[in-house]
Amino acid sequence: MKKPKIYLSSPHMGGNEISFVNEAFETNWIAPLGPNVSGFESDLATYLSSAGESCHVAALSSGTAALHLALILLGVKHGDEVICQSMTFSASANPIVYQGALPVFIDSEPETWNLCPIALEAAIKDRIKKGKKPKAIIAVHLYGMPYQVDEVTRIANHYEIPVIEDSAEAMGSTYKGKKCGTFGAISILSFNGNKIITTSGGGALVSKNKSHIEKAVFLATQARDQAPHYQHSEIGYNYRMSNVCAGIGRGQMQVLDSHVQRRRQNHFFYKQLFDKTNGVCIFKESNEHYYSNHWLSCVLIEPKKTNGITREDLRLALEKENIESRPLWKPMHLQPVFVNSPFYGGEIAETLFENGLCLPSASNLTSEDLNRLQDVIYSVFN
Ligand SMILES: *Cc1c(COP(=O)(O)O)cnc(C)c1O
Repeated sequence: MKKPKIYLSSPHMGGNEISFVNEAFETNWIAPLGPNVSGFESDLATYLSSAGESCHVAALSSGTAALHLALILLGVKHGDEVICQSMTFSASANPIVYQGALPVFIDSEPETWNLCPIALEAAIKDRIKKGKKPKAIIAVHLYGMPYQVDEVTRIANHYEIPVIEDSAEAMGSTYKGKKCGTFGAISILSFNGNKIITTSGGGALVSKNKSHIEKAVFLATQARDQAPHYQHSEIGYNYRMSNVCAGIGRGQMQVLDSHVQRRRQNHFFYKQLFDKTNGVCIFKESNEHYYSNHWLSCVLIEPKKTNGITREDLRLALEKENIESRPLWKPMHLQPVFVNSPFYGGEIAETLFENGLCLPSASNLTSEDLNRLQDVIYSVFN
């Protein structure tokens, strides 16, 4: 008999989600507004705010919608250019094109796999020289690993270009003790089914600037002017989060910290497993400033050092045992759809993509699951 499938990153309910959802049914708030939406927003704001700094939150239908609205709020229009980390999920870059703007892709640096500050600055200088200053920088905390926040922020401030912080994968991660999701002029979160917490599908836009949040909510509810009839002076969107989904989110907030701990334990499990394997390198924090939620545990496999064993060998061996794993994000500058976008940097992202593999990382992996994983990994490398 086939063993049950182990997924890369499956949803993990804490138990109380259903009471919030029931409440939505009992009170008939089956709409993209209601007490769960406000409650979830306030939970998120409390979670992200710190002593000297309050964050405001708009709950939306997806992280992608949040990115789209972030670009609109920053005034990105047809013909503009927006800088974006190349190594990421396509959802980071697609909204640039929704706005009719051009994505300018930047290579990764090898420590955090995120935006390379050197390539970033070179790109900004070159784009300005070519006549167009980029309107925004989309920086991503890939797999939960914070990007080089100080460096990226310094460069962005120097050239006065706002950062959109794509924190879709990084809830619960910190940089120098400060939470990811609080570093950008605008930050976004995702609660898709595979993320650290989920509302089945959903996202949020976060900002310290309250007027950004008010404008985001206005645009997300069809940009309706204040009038008894429906009147519109701007193009709007239907991007608000449903009150039913927000109920799931409120329950998930109660287990966020334990989810992060479980994901981190998975990372340490793999770390110990691969510790003595030549040519396999686990993706980890490069120093104490970084604290990753390890949303996905990733390894780099260098065939030159593993007697020719590649990441595909490991992926296929896992697949044979009904275990899902996945190559790293294919960089955007290598995607057919983005062939016409400029790219700045070298081959860091490309090499990561060639050698990297994401391993099962859900917060509800059982010890039985981990044993199965260990067996396959040992059989490939010993
Ligand atoms: C998941 C994800 C998004 C998009 O979020 P959705 O809620 O799926 O729309 C954006 N950026 C990154 C890096 C992601 O992983």
